[in-house]
Amino acid sequence: MNVPFIDLKRLEAGFHEALMEKFHAMTLGAQFIGGAEVATLETRLQSELQVTHAISCANGTDALQLALRAVGVGAGDLVLVPNVTFWATFEAVVNVGARPVTVDADLRDGGVSFEAFEQAIRNAKPKAALVAHLYGWGSARLLELRALCREQGVVLVEDGAQSFGARYQGEPIYKGAQISTTSFYPAKVLGGAGDGGAVFTDDAALADKVRRLGNHGRTAHYGYGDVGWNSRLDSLQAAFLNLSLDHIDARIASRREAVAFYQKHLPAAGIQLMNAPSDYDENGYCNVCLVPDAALKARLEAELKAEGIGFGNIYPGVMSSQPGAVASLAGHFGGQVGEQLCASVLNLPLFPYMTESELQRVVEVVGSVIGGTNVR
Ligand SMILES: *Cc1c(COP(=O)(O)O)cnc(C)c1O
Repeated sequence: MNVPFIDLKRLEAGFHEALMEKFHAMTLGAQFIGGAEVATLETRLQSELQVTHAISCANGTDALQLALRAVGVGAGDLVLVPNVTFWATFEAVVNVGARPVTVDADLRDGGVSFEAFEQAIRNAKPKAALVAHLYGWGSARLLELRALCREQGVVLVEDGAQSFGARYQGEPIYKGAQISTTSFYPAKVLGGAGDGGAVFTDDAALADKVRRLGNHGRTAHYGYGDVGWNSRLDSLQAAFLNLSLDHIDARIASRREAVAFYQKHLPAAGIQLMNAPSDYDENGYCNVCLVPDAALKARLEAELKAEGIGFGNIYPGVMSSQPGAVASLAGHFGGQVGEQLCASVLNLPLFPYMTESELQRVVEVVGSVIGGTNVR
């Protein structure tokens, strides 16, 4: 049996019909920009994520750029960026004219090293800092990161592209952030039928600024208070997301069941299954195994490939070593734990509505390489 790394086609019964009905009505009514679907989505995001303001936009990368611009980051400013993240986190800083300073990773949670982050705050004196809540949870020391930034007058922008549905101390992870973002890229936990994103904040002035920047800096239809750009979310996209939100609890529950299966059945020898730190309920975004032994990792990958089991490596390289980073990189704090993390990550299939036999098959193939099924 082949098992895909991800399969986005497994939608709930009735989803497609409801979608066609909505698209039909909206298309007949020529409802393409703004309108009820966008307004409803933003209101639902606010209550779901317990944030005062949710501003939808064109994609998760724009969400980061809108957040950075809104808090006043611009030409020449230094911004801390995790050295292990998706490239967009790094890119956003450069695109607003600022200079990224990378911060090393923590092998225990995949987030930034708190010590390196603290050192960077004190020595580099950045205008802002980015952290990314990778893999479906956040840093074990999230509250300390927030408190340190507040105390040092550094704006903390939280990239929550992978953390929709993750809960910290029983509450949505976005709650309490100064400003945070998400992505609706189809493979994300709340995925769209294309690109989309959002910015979240409790600060009304920041929310206004984000909304204005994403709509050409408009203060009136032909009045412009800023040079912004067009980063609106399409109405059809918002409609798809609203329908997806109706099923998000079931999808996250299914992801968490897959996580629990892996936790229970994956062989332990040579593989370390990375889990959310205590205080978190992860959203089951992806499976993260660390396989420090490169030869074992290569054997596992070859066998998975031969058996038709999808796998990934999120992410294979740190930001500071990308050719595209050279021109803008303004420094690095901490050591090379990030490189170690990138070299050992192996992601196994994980997506909503995976079947138990698919999960069983993945575990079997991994076990056939490692030998034996040591129950954790
Ligand atoms: C997906 C992702 C983004 C970018 O989102 P897009 O919607 O693809 O632009 C940014 N940061 C992280 C951590 C992501 O996973």
